[in-house]
Amino acid sequence: MAPITMKHLTKVYGDGFHAVKDVDLDIADGEFVILVGPSGCGKSTLLRMIVGLEDITDGELLIDGEQVNEKAPRDRNLAMVFQNYALYPHLTVYENIAFPLRLAKVDDKELDQRVRKASDVLELDEHLERKPANLSGGQRQRVAMGRAIVRDAKAFLFDEPLSNLDAKLRGQMRTEISRLQKRLGITTVYVTHDQVEALTLGDRVAVLRKGALQQVAAPRELYEQPVNLFVAGFIGSPPMNFLPAKVSGGVAETPFGEARLTPEMAERVGDRDMVILGARPEHFEDASVVDDALKDKGMTFPATVDVIEWLGNEQYAYVPFEAADAVEKQLEELDRELDGEAMRTQLVVSLDGASRIAEGEEAQLWLDMRRVHFFDPESGDNLTLREVDDTTGQGSSPRESQERAEHGTEGRHSAERPDPADARASDGSRAASDPRDSSENAT
Ligand code: ATP
Repeated sequence: MAPITMKHLTKVYGDGFHAVKDVDLDIADGEFVILVGPSGCGKSTLLRMIVGLEDITDGELLIDGEQVNEKAPRDRNLAMVFQNYALYPHLTVYENIAFPLRLAKVDDKELDQRVRKASDVLELDEHLERKPANLSGGQRQRVAMGRAIVRDAKAFLFDEPLSNLDAKLRGQMRTEISRLQKRLGITTVYVTHDQVEALTLGDRVAVLRKGALQQVAAPRELYEQPVNLFVAGFIGSPPMNFLPAKVSGGVAETPFGEARLTPEMAERVGDRDMVILGARPEHFEDASVVDDALKDKGMTFPATVDVIEWLGNEQYAYVPFEAADAVEKQLEELDRELDGEAMRTQLVVSLDGASRIAEGEEAQLWLDMRRVHFFDPESGDNLTLREVDDTTGQGSSPRESQERAEHGTEGRHSAERPDPADARASDGSRAASDPRDSSENAT
């Protein structure tokens, strides 16, 4: 186990392509860090630089305090698990786990001790004599990790290990990896383009865009306090809604009418001809089910609901809106960059299960203005970013932090509805198993 430190890490490929740009990242001993971003953002390149499969053009990489820029992969003692891990089908689980020790010519007694210790931790004791074909996907994943454990690797590096699996199995494996990582306490770097994996697995998530780090934060902070439009649009599913707005005197003119900003937001945003208002689907509600006492904390507006998707525990309503050409182009551009499929000129609104709004109906919706963000359309910066309280991981304005300190309250983020990131975590653990498919390989 070891901390991993990246100092100004840079990668320029032979053809001059700048794939990783000046990345500074400290990963603590035992920490689980996710590298996430859309296709081509450089996350696999960065992982391969850590493991030694890709040269470092510039900057410094330290593992356990030691500079390893020039060290060969095998001398870095890291265990890499790829997308298609390949267990040896003709070998038993025992021999698959023992494989790296046999290569290293470890004597039989010590080899047996190390394999049995790993199998105990991974709960594979009763499967040691079986062949990989007769294991479930989750068990194969554990054998893969067993190989890494017997080597006493300093860290696990995962490159999209679940991307070939179906949704059910992915959910199960996600939970399995998370549980094992916690139990083993081994430093782990995990690459994915799937923001659900990013939010549910890691202690911290590092979001990359075109080779540059955008934000490194705990999942909840990333979700609630994205530093810019890119992170806001990438993290969350369905994604954050972006509405063009003009702000003057603390009032935003939006395609759905006028909304009053909170005093803190008004102070930060000032008067601007063009800003982007960001609102997550769950920050909207059917106005008819919103408590009267809450109503004046948000904007109530009429909207024609185009489509309703009913998912049992919640429902999503889709509401198209018109935006000026320039704004529409900008939102489309952002969406392309995010690999998104969203149509940015429609609102996606999450409604309470009790709501009876029907398709094609003009409904009264409500937007909680306390939870929205305002972004600068040019720089993408979040103008209303709040300080994050270390104890709760929740954002707050300086005034709210002070209130919390004075009154010992949780502040106003003790929301009326559960946090979607939490909901996803529980989805993952509910997922059932599917005993198929393959996989593993460690360096
Ligand atoms: P994905 O999720 O699609 O695998 P990624 O974020 O892991 O994407 P990388 O594989 O790290 O992306 O690639 C980052 C960028 O570097 C891409 O634009 C890719 O085309 C480019 N790239 C990768 N390998 C090379 C190479 N050998 N020479 C030149 N450019 C490369």
